[in-house]
Amino acid sequence: MAGALRRRGVTIERPPSHGMGPLAAVHSPDYLAFLETAWSRWSALPDAAEAVIPNVHRNTDMAEYPRGIVGQAGWHMSDTACPIAEGTWEAARASADTAVQAALLVASGETGAAYALCRPPGHHASRDMAGGFCYLNNAAIAAQAALPILAGRGKQPRAAILDVDVHHGNGTQAIFYERDDVLVISIHADPAEFYPFFAGYAHERGRSRGQGYNLNMPLPIGTEEAAFLAAVAEAGAHLARYAPELLVLSLGFDTYAGDPLAAFKVTTPGFAKLGALIAGFGLPIVVVQEGGYDREALAANLDSFLDGFGEPSP
Ligand SMILES: [Zn+2]
Repeated sequence: MAGALRRRGVTIERPPSHGMGPLAAVHSPDYLAFLETAWSRWSALPDAAEAVIPNVHRNTDMAEYPRGIVGQAGWHMSDTACPIAEGTWEAARASADTAVQAALLVASGETGAAYALCRPPGHHASRDMAGGFCYLNNAAIAAQAALPILAGRGKQPRAAILDVDVHHGNGTQAIFYERDDVLVISIHADPAEFYPFFAGYAHERGRSRGQGYNLNMPLPIGTEEAAFLAAVAEAGAHLARYAPELLVLSLGFDTYAGDPLAAFKVTTPGFAKLGALIAGFGLPIVVVQEGGYDREALAANLDSFLDGFGEPSP
């Protein structure tokens, strides 16, 4: 994907470290300490496996935080798709720093749009739990980092997150579920039959102050490109009513028809239509890369998205 950006003549910047502050504004102290120390603590166990992968998980009627690394792994990891190995913490931090840097550039008005090439992705990570290849919630961290800058303009800050990855952004939803300063909209495959299964239903509209500020738009497995794009246009109408000062787009390319996880049938030219629709919202935007697992097609799909979005080609 970086190759596709370079071929377009896009300047790629490595983000500086923004420290723990932006992460701690979204994630719990216990969880961050776990992520930072998990690999070294795990690898010190006798006969340690090559990566931290729990075989026991926290349940709804289990509420005691364990002291040891094996129990903490189960507490903080909702599935087995988030192995922690040497370098995982550093990679997750660099990914989050990328999103923060993009958010700061856009929130400060330095640019109207920035693309954060985040790996690993983030939208399944909640305040204190990894899941679905996600450790730190890059999109949530970006939105949260932007808010103080937006507030500096003298009014109640308003940001929005639109998640167009094929999976529901359950971590993002959970983080902002009781808040009205970040509207969260997710378009995704129906969780009745698709990961993350336990969240992403249309009736989940937020709680207390956040009531009405969470919108899920599940679509059936097998959804065609036109229906997906129609849902994005409908999300745009909701965004227009909320009128955020900044939009974070959780962009997944796993809606692609050829994706190994695909539930939707978006074509490569379809991502140009998606880009054009998003650009048409007319909002300052931070694009955060989420999923996308057809490695052969990722570059072409990003290229197509940027074509439609209106980024100059060489
Ligand atoms: Zn996904």
